[in-house]
Formats: sequence, C-alpha cells, structure tokens
Amino acid sequence: MRMSKGLFPTLKEAPKEAEIVSHKLMIRAGLMRKLASGIYTYLPLGYRVIRKIENIIREEMDRAGAQEVLLPALSPQELWEESGRWGIYGPELMRIKDRHDRFFGLGPTHEEVITDLVRREVKSYKQLPLTLYQIQTKFRDEIRPRFGMLRAREFHMKDAYSFDRNEKGLEKNYKRMYQTYQNIFNRCGLKYKAVKADTGPIGGDVSHEFMVLAKTGEDQIVYCKKCGYAANVNRAEYRRSQVAGRRSQIKEEPLEKVETPGMKSVEEVTSFLKCKPENLVKTLIYKVDGNPVAILIRGEHEVNERKLEKLLKAKEISLADEETIEKVTGGPLGFSGPVGLNPTASGGRIEIIADSDVVGMKNMISGANEKDYHLININLDRDFKADKILDIRSVIPGDLCPKCKIKLIFSRGIEVGHVFKLGTKYSKDLKATFLDEKGRERPLIMGCYGIGLDRIMAANIEQNHDENGIIWPSSIAPYQVLVLIVNNQDKKQIKIAEEVYNSLEKEGIEVLFDDRDLRAGAKFKDADLMGIPLRITIGNKAMKGKKIEIKIRKNNKVHEIDRKNLIPKIQSFLK
Ligand SMILES: [Zn+2]
Repeated sequence: MRMSKGLFPTLKEAPKEAEIVSHKLMIRAGLMRKLASGIYTYLPLGYRVIRKIENIIREEMDRAGAQEVLLPALSPQELWEESGRWGIYGPELMRIKDRHDRFFGLGPTHEEVITDLVRREVKSYKQLPLTLYQIQTKFRDEIRPRFGMLRAREFHMKDAYSFDRNEKGLEKNYKRMYQTYQNIFNRCGLKYKAVKADTGPIGGDVSHEFMVLAKTGEDQIVYCKKCGYAANVNRAEYRRSQVAGRRSQIKEEPLEKVETPGMKSVEEVTSFLKCKPENLVKTLIYKVDGNPVAILIRGEHEVNERKLEKLLKAKEISLADEETIEKVTGGPLGFSGPVGLNPTASGGRIEIIADSDVVGMKNMISGANEKDYHLININLDRDFKADKILDIRSVIPGDLCPKCKIKLIFSRGIEVGHVFKLGTKYSKDLKATFLDEKGRERPLIMGCYGIGLDRIMAANIEQNHDENGIIWPSSIAPYQVLVLIVNNQDKKQIKIAEEVYNSLEKEGIEVLFDDRDLRAGAKFKDADLMGIPLRITIGNKAMKGKKIEIKIRKNNKVHEIDRKNLIPKIQSFLK
C-alpha cells in the first residue's frame, strides 16, 4: 500500500479526553476517529488490526470444533422478557421502538437469541454437543464512556455458546474453550492471567476472566506467584488469619461508654481514643432487598458487596439512608454499634452479620447507637450475638494466598475475555430442552464464552508501546514492513525504494510504502508512532553500497543487510 494514495492521518497531539496511552495512540497513529461519545470509526490502519485479531479468533474457534453463525443485533423485547433480563439489564441495554410500537434490544450479549435458535433446531441428544459462535457488533449504553475502545458504547465481540446434555459435557467444552482462549491470547502477543471471576449480569455458576496485566486496567486482580492462584478482587479468597486463636487468651474488660464528640470516621475515632483500626468494629447498616441488616467489619477492612450479595443470595444491596439508620439503631449515622441492636431500639429485630475476622476480636470499639458516644470493651457473645458469621471483606495487601502461606500480589488488569458455565439458567427460562436416550425431556446445559476484539487491540497497545508510539507484535500488526524513502526528490532513491517495495509485495509480505512528499523527520516520527514491526530506510546508504537499512521497532536495533539477502532476512525477522 502506497501511503501517498491512502488515508493515514496521524496527529502530534491526542485529544484532551484521552486519559490512557492506548486511547491516545489509537487516535494519534490514525487507527480510529471519534464520531460521538463512546462511538468510533475505524480507519484503514485500525481496521486491519481488527481483521487480524478476527482471523486469529476464527482459526482457533474453528479448530476447536465451533461453528460460526451471525445473529441479528436487534432482538425483540419478548425474548428478553422470557429470561427476565429486559427488566434486570437496566439502562445499559439500548432499547429502540419500531413503527408498530414494538420494542427491541440492541444486543450487548446474545444468550436469549442463541437459546431461541437452538430450542427450535435441536430436539435430540444425538445433536449434542454443539458450540456456535459469532463475531459481531455489540452495544452497551455506558453511563460514562471512556478510555476509547475499552469502554465504548459500540464495540466488537466474539461470543460463543456451548450446548451439552450433561455437566460432564459442559466441563469438557469449558476446558476446551479455556484452552482455545489461551491459544488466541498467546497468538495475539498478550501477557495475561486467567482469574476466577464474578458472573455478573450474565449469571451462571463458574466463570474465569482473562486479564491483560496493565497499570491502566479498570479491574483489580490478585495472584500468587507460587501456586498460580488468581482472582478478581471481587471474588478473591485469602488465608484466614490465626488471630482468633491467639486473641482468645485476652481477658474481657468491662463494657464502658465513652464520649466521642463529633467523631464518626474510623480515623477520627481511633486517633481520638488512641487505638488502632484493628481494635475498632465498623457497624454498617445495609438494605438487603429492602430489609435493614447490620454488617460488622474490622476498622481497616472494607465490605465486599459482591461477596455479600452472593452469600445472602440477594438481588439488591445498598447502604441504608440516614433515616433508616436512626430508625433501626436509635442513633445517628456514624455512631452505630452492635450492642443493643438485637432486639433493636425501636423494638423490631435487625439481623447482625459479622465478618469472620471480627470473631477473634476482644474488647472492641464501636458506636453506642447514641450521638457523640462510642462503647469500648465490646465482646462478642457477652454483649451481643451475631446471627451470621461470613467471609464478606475484600482482600487487602498483606493477605496470604488461600493455598500457600505467601502474600498475594495485587495488579491491575484489562478484561479481554470471559468464560462462563451457565448451566441451565437460560435453557430453563426459555424452555430449551432435548430428549435424552430414554426419551426424557431435559434442559440443555449451556456455557458462554466472550472475547472483546477492540479490547485485545487496546490492551496490546497498553502493553507494547514506548514514548514514540505503538510497538505491534507481527501477528496483529496492520502491516509487517514499512518502506521509507528519505528524499522524495531523489530519483535514484525512488527507483531503489520502488524495487524493494515491489519485491516484498511479490513475496506476499504486507508492506506499507511511505512515498509521501514529506520531510524525512516527519516520516520517521510517523513510522515509530504507527509501530510497524520492521522499517526499511532507503537513503544515502542504500545508494552508495548495496546495503539496505532495517530497523526493528521492538528494540530499535538497526541492521544493514545486503540487498540480495533482503527477503530471507525479513522473513526471519518476522518469525
Ligand atoms: Zn499460592
């Protein structure tokens, strides 16, 4: 491709709204342009990268025995009603109305559509197992689109769905997809971790996220260097501390009420009472599906709301408002404590759920359920009872691996893929069944598997760049080689460059030819910005000797190659 004949707009500056390096470089290198908030056009260079990623995914999915389909982006409201997600999905589901006042969803995911297809076409166990996939545009009405293609409102995904007759089949398919995903991400040149994850609005029992490690990632993950344990912090477990045993030796002191004027936060109370956060118990009033519940957690810990939601099998949890707090504890916000909560001051009863780390505490400090007062020397079982003791806190730095005795490592990640064991979640709701060997009607067992194409591209840039621009791995680079003429006025240079360009094209090597009438400096800058793996410079050296200069973008090393050895050298560099 001759750059003088195409659309390759590069920019010196990134737009102000671009906060992370991949967003900045995707705009600056001319991979994409913004149309509206969270909506982008891929320019020729960017679209080539998307197609490279698409081809790798397609090859690996086909190799795993999956079949490609193309489902419509528009799906009728009635189908979403069958799974209940028309209501549950909330404002992130883009909804449109046709001329007959019928509503449609613009698919953020396609469980309903594929389940509808399969319930119509698959009747017998003989047609199973079956895995179908598609590569398609998806929509999500993000409340705050940002980070370029990482949190866009229109994006590209590969989504696959497996159908099995039993759990064993699902397990096999899940493992196969897990392996396929590893192949895909390896081929795309990503450094990633597969972590245990939350199932979120997709649902199901087991899921793993594939996380590309990057400082700018929106997700936080923890992992163990020794055994390979890895999880999203939302899901992460840790080794239970041995504090409970040691603390049981400590003598219980008499309960005492102390004045703490205006002291509400952990910092205020602990500095005022000259104690440590681990001596204090936060009493947080939550609303769990509308009912108030008291959550006890140690001063330095945070409640993991997703863990709590899961353990309580709750649909909705949130911190209670001030009015509710006053009503159920008798005291204002900031002074809640467990003593006297069961039964409550108002005569009702409020459930107390204590985090497991609270159990070992002796002589704790917490609110007195009275303005400007705290209680000290509170002891579990003597002064109050916990209705439930659960592991509800988030992991914190210093926590140990649940399997080994070494500290978990905290890292940030970008989610590029997610695999779920759905089980019968959708097949039951949509009545997707098959007849087994004995003629019994059974629900299909499902799995679903997603990969974000744009995310692979952006995450790749987050991992592979320097101060001058992108550094593509050759597997997904838009072109393999860039041929650059230093002086566009020099006929001899033009002649050599044309010969080199044509010989590479003839060999089937993807080559970009910078024959633009620009200063050499501008061309060199653009070459680094666009990140093509190999750059061939045709300048004075090429004319004097028979040598051709090749620069490797990844390590900036320059090699001088005899012209006759050019093609085999290029081929070996690209390997
Ligand atoms: Zn470990």
